[in-house]
Amino acid sequence: MRLVMLGPPGAGKGTQAARLAERLGVPQLSTGDILRAAAAKGSPVSLAARDLMARGELVGDDIVVNCVLECIAEPGAASGFILDGFPRTLRQARALDEALEKAHLGLDAVLELKVDESVLLDRIIYRAREAKAAGLPVRADDNPEALKVRLESYRTQTQPLADYYRTAGLLRTINGLRPVDEVTSSLVAELRLHRKPESEQTSLSRAEFE
Ligand code: ADP
Repeated sequence: MRLVMLGPPGAGKGTQAARLAERLGVPQLSTGDILRAAAAKGSPVSLAARDLMARGELVGDDIVVNCVLECIAEPGAASGFILDGFPRTLRQARALDEALEKAHLGLDAVLELKVDESVLLDRIIYRAREAKAAGLPVRADDNPEALKVRLESYRTQTQPLADYYRTAGLLRTINGLRPVDEVTSSLVAELRLHRKPESEQTSLSRAEFE
């Protein structure tokens, strides 16, 4: 299974991607996590990325695309992956398509989590509070100012990807406002519903949902 999670900041992409990854036995590739880990190590490129991320702005396409293409070429991603936070621009989506095409592969589905913008700020404030209470680091971009910028880049640069993937017949839209378990069940149901015919499945993909 090769999947992409789409949705605004705070929609629950990371939570759901982790659950699906475990269920399907494929890695979850979160560009936010990968970039934060790189920034923590402190290379010059990643330090520039860290400032952009803290402000809520997007990191340059080339950096992110290179990073994702490297990850999906790893042996661990040979049977599939769930991309969470990528692609975020049309250029990124096209680069992913090209790389998969070259490898004679394709995406199975793009799962879009639909959530009212009015709940996003509450969710992000809650996440920051929980992290603090647990003694974990609070993300530099989990605050109202950075959220505004993140939402703006989502609206202008990422939202158009829904049309891109709808045209390709890959988009599945799920209501992300319900409790976490219910959202997971809906995602799994969507994937089952649109499963490839038995003849096109590998034994691994047949086993995934048993
Ligand atoms: P969220 O989706 O909750 O906003 P992420 O953890 O996915 O958070 O991403 C955090 C930040 O990392 C983004 O605001 C952006 O600065 C950077 N980032 C992550 N993925 C990408 C991407 N595909 N392209 C550009 N920047 C990215």
